[in-house]
Amino acid sequence: MNSLLNSINERQIPLTETLVKLAEINSGTLNRAGVNQIGGLLSEMFCARLNCHHQQLSLPAYTLIRTDGTAVEHPLGDLHILSKRPDAPLQVLLTGHLDTVFPEDSVFQQCQWLDEQTLQGPGVSDMKGGLLVMLEALAAFEQSPLAQRIGWTVILNPDEEIGSPSSASILAQQAELHDLGMIYEPALPNGQLAGERKGSGNFTAIIAGVAAHAGREHHRGRNAICAMAEFITAVDQLNGLRDGVTINVGIVDGGVTTNQVPDQARCRFNIRTRISEDERWCQQQLHRIEEQINRKEGISLTLHGGFGRSPKQLNPAHLALFQLVANCSAQLGVPLSWEPTGGCCDGNNLSAAGLPNVDTLGVLGGNIHSHQEFIKISSLVERARLTTLILLTLAEQPETWSRART
Ligand SMILES: [Zn+2]
Repeated sequence: MNSLLNSINERQIPLTETLVKLAEINSGTLNRAGVNQIGGLLSEMFCARLNCHHQQLSLPAYTLIRTDGTAVEHPLGDLHILSKRPDAPLQVLLTGHLDTVFPEDSVFQQCQWLDEQTLQGPGVSDMKGGLLVMLEALAAFEQSPLAQRIGWTVILNPDEEIGSPSSASILAQQAELHDLGMIYEPALPNGQLAGERKGSGNFTAIIAGVAAHAGREHHRGRNAICAMAEFITAVDQLNGLRDGVTINVGIVDGGVTTNQVPDQARCRFNIRTRISEDERWCQQQLHRIEEQINRKEGISLTLHGGFGRSPKQLNPAHLALFQLVANCSAQLGVPLSWEPTGGCCDGNNLSAAGLPNVDTLGVLGGNIHSHQEFIKISSLVERARLTTLILLTLAEQPETWSRART
């Protein structure tokens, strides 16, 4: 076991070089070509080193609602499924996303060393580093005779950063075929694992009013922006009314020019929930506010969207898995525990599908989703060693971890 783990230590330099190369290929979620390039490179590397089965699937486009209420479709990159030994007694699902939050025209495209140990760059932590951790760990694990006892599936999805709208159904299907899940999101900024996660929903409100000349016929107009201001104020006032629920209005637009009463306005907002029952409460409140706005003469409000991710609540199966991860980390000399977070990820999806999972097995770093994103470069090797040890430990007692699958 030790020689396997130690062999990973020698991989620091090639891992770093590959990470820089991957990070400097833009793969913002809506940059389909870039996401596909990353997916192509990674699936080639997985196949070459792991001799696994590979499937590439195209996904439905992502639909965004424009200010005028019409829909625009954004094609997404492909999803990759890599798998080995589907008949082994224990089936592990590993997932990672190919996309980043940095669009094709972002100014943040290059890597830069901040010091010997710290590399700044787009997606280095979230989560191109994590994808390499997954590959490296599987490659080491496959050298062990114990590998025969575990079958695994890797999903590389292209749309996690927008809430996995098009890959959600595949994640849910695959969750049912596996005993536990491992996801390669970066560790929390203090190095710990994420435990409970909030749920999340994205909504778009569109208001149609009546356009009119601002000078000649102002009285004939019905101002969509003013109605939207009322809507937003009412929605914002829901904050603080229910424990653990927060609502953030993030995008507002509408109107064309100052001498016309605007007949269109749009706002987009995000809701975070703590327990699944919060979703119904939020829907009721939104419905009440929607009715209130729609009572205004000449104004019509339509709500789109919904809750894409339910809260991840920890059950005994989750806790047992977390404990196993913590024990493995302690064996490697790194104490590890878990704490709740307001952020969500595909760990929420797997959890909602009944699959116990630990979702922050990726690298250590920080400032993710900002132009200051960085990785602590030694964590590529450290975290690959951790996943290898987790897999070896699971393989020692596959029957303990396999659950009755339907
Ligand atoms: Zn991520």
